[in-house]
Amino acid sequence: MLITNIGQLVTPQGIRPLRGHAMRKLTVIQSAYIQIEQGKIVRIGPMKEAPHAKNVFDAQGGVAIPGLVDPHTHAVFYGTREGEFLARCQGEKYGKGILTSVERVREASEDQIYEFSKKFLLEMMRLGTTTIEIKSGYGLDTESELKLLRVIQRLREALTPATPPLSRSDGRGVGGEGLEIVPTFCGAHAVPAGVEKSRYIREIIEEMLPRVQREALAEFGDVFCEQGFFSIDESREMLRACRVAGLGLKIHADELSPLGGAELAGELQALSADHLLHISDRGIAAMKEAGVVAVLLPGTAFSLNAAYAPARKMIEAGLAVALGTDFNPGTCLIYSMFFMMALAVLKMKMTVEEALTAATLNAAAAVRRAEKLGSLEPGKRADLVILDLENYKQIPYFIGHEGRFVRAVICAGRVGAN
Ligand SMILES: [Zn+2]
Repeated sequence: MLITNIGQLVTPQGIRPLRGHAMRKLTVIQSAYIQIEQGKIVRIGPMKEAPHAKNVFDAQGGVAIPGLVDPHTHAVFYGTREGEFLARCQGEKYGKGILTSVERVREASEDQIYEFSKKFLLEMMRLGTTTIEIKSGYGLDTESELKLLRVIQRLREALTPATPPLSRSDGRGVGGEGLEIVPTFCGAHAVPAGVEKSRYIREIIEEMLPRVQREALAEFGDVFCEQGFFSIDESREMLRACRVAGLGLKIHADELSPLGGAELAGELQALSADHLLHISDRGIAAMKEAGVVAVLLPGTAFSLNAAYAPARKMIEAGLAVALGTDFNPGTCLIYSMFFMMALAVLKMKMTVEEALTAATLNAAAAVRRAEKLGSLEPGKRADLVILDLENYKQIPYFIGHEGRFVRAVICAGRVGAN
């Protein structure tokens, strides 16, 4: 398969996250082709040297970028919370926040949650996202957390391209095509109503994690480390237990106050620390030392009218910064990675080049996939987006236009034209 007549091919390069100013280094090829075999890129070159092929997709002069990677979502939930949203916009408090979604998830069947969530994922894919991380965390008891993780598993089977599944005990392969879904166990999202926190932490460590491990339902473990949720010591204990259960580590850190989640991420050598609106200088140093990816979620700051994470400071300090949507029913309903790139440029003063790296290669690194996707290079999976734009600098300029300018989304070499 050959993609021809790419007007401008734009990509970061490498199999590791780019740190600091290296995030600005994009490879730009005017008038290019991409040759794909068995779902992988085998060759990229100037259009005048393109080989002959039977199966051709004509990009008609559009811009080609790597498929976008969303490394932080809570995309599997049930029911909506518009009352809470509108009250918050009026400066009023309303509802029970996360616990409202917990009630809805506990009442809903696996099938209901599956159908409710799937429509969002299909739309995210149409908007150029080809890999998405999804967390549990609206169950908050063993059965409900496992129910959410099983829904994520079913979505993986329905939507993931034919890549090797997590080690499934029944040996069943995954079919379908399109989106790659990365499952994260986030039982420590909040403390459920009517349960003592210490008892809930024991339930996570002694009941949930062994089952998550036995049923191979997650690749990462995540903890909401914030004042009023889980302290540094509690987060450390749960994250260590996640590691023992074979999970990679992620952490919701320093979103509401400078509690020290970034420092903890460094200490535990977590793969990523996310949010970081109130990260301290010591937190930045600890993350840099340990090579932790900073996942910034500007859609949440936008939706809450909060201050944005200090992206410039983190990049100048040499951190690898990634972008995610944080798509969830309470604090951010935006699921477009193009909108995140625009916010990064408009609100966090990132350059367009940094934003593109943050939404592709660095986001892939935040879900441990930088070796196989996140850039357009031979050997990587052929995940790419063709944009009806003149050049990549128009991406943040045409803020909110992605429904128009995403011309085609190609997942593992399969074209889903818009
Ligand atoms: Zn989150």
